[in-house]
Amino acid sequence: MGKVNISDKSISMDTLIHTMSIFEKLYDVIRIVNPVKKQLLDLKLNKINELESSCYNLWKTGKVCSNCVSARAYSEKETFVKIEYNGKKVYMITAIPVEVDGAPVVLELLKDITKSGVIENIENKDSDTIRHAVNHMNELIVVDPLTQVFNKRFIYERLPADIINSILNNKPLSLIMADIDFFKKVNDIYGHVAGDEVLKVVASILSRSVRKDIDWAARYGGEEFIICLKNASEDTAVKVAEKIRKAIENTIINYEGASIKVTASFGVKTLFEENLNEEELIKEADKKLYKAKNTGRNKVVV
Ligand code: GH3
Ligand code: MG
Ligand code: MG
Repeated sequence: MGKVNISDKSISMDTLIHTMSIFEKLYDVIRIVNPVKKQLLDLKLNKINELESSCYNLWKTGKVCSNCVSARAYSEKETFVKIEYNGKKVYMITAIPVEVDGAPVVLELLKDITKSGVIENIENKDSDTIRHAVNHMNELIVVDPLTQVFNKRFIYERLPADIINSILNNKPLSLIMADIDFFKKVNDIYGHVAGDEVLKVVASILSRSVRKDIDWAARYGGEEFIICLKNASEDTAVKVAEKIRKAIENTIINYEGASIKVTASFGVKTLFEENLNEEELIKEADKKLYKAKNTGRNKVVV
């Protein structure tokens, strides 16, 4: 699939309508979405209007896609592709960021690829198996292969939407930034492979400690992780961070005869009635983490 070169400049409503009429012949479904609110938009009387429906309703999973290509297209100003399954058909979705008369939206082009062979032998598979295969293909894009928690790309896709939703619903959103203490020493003493094992164990503690499908844990980089808690006050976030801190402190990681123990430091920032974007929120949590590091490590700082 070639890249459609309309992503880098603002286009007029007329151009959008014209472009869509061309795509209509090539695709099975074309839609315009607001990638932050995850809302469908439509064109009426040459204006973009918000519809009641969420873009992810089409996939009948009842939740925001963990691999939202529209958010990715929007934040990276690039065209992205993924596949999805709605219980009947498999679609390839191409998400193209466009600015229409100055307003950023994403154009989603859907092509029915059920019979394309992307899922081998699809006619003999039940819908659970197909959904599983599709999920697996998409997961590869947003999951960190070593630790199996989400990766940095996911953070920058999901966090803007979580922030907007917390503001719209007038609920707090808490971000915990965690960093393993003296991790370099673990590598130096036990070797890099043992270090990898420690990362895996710590990541599994993080993902076990948050509510599935509501909160999320992701690897920000190296030995740094981010945990995002929805509708969580500062108090709640501190309790969760403390619980994780203790769990890590009390875990023994066995690796080739060695018993490895590590600790981690945590910075917590809660967003409530305050306007911060994802970068600023991460930066604030990082500042607290820095303070935790400088005042003794193995602690939670708010
Ligand atoms: P601090 O308590 O200040 O955080 O000290 P630290 O040693 O944890 O921090 P520093 O930033 O000095 O070192 C981080 C180390 O993490 C260095 C790097 O080699 C290691 N690291 C980063 N990614 C990986 C990885 O994927 N696997 C392993 N084994 N090590 C990694
Ligand atoms: Mg560290
Ligand atoms: Mg670090």
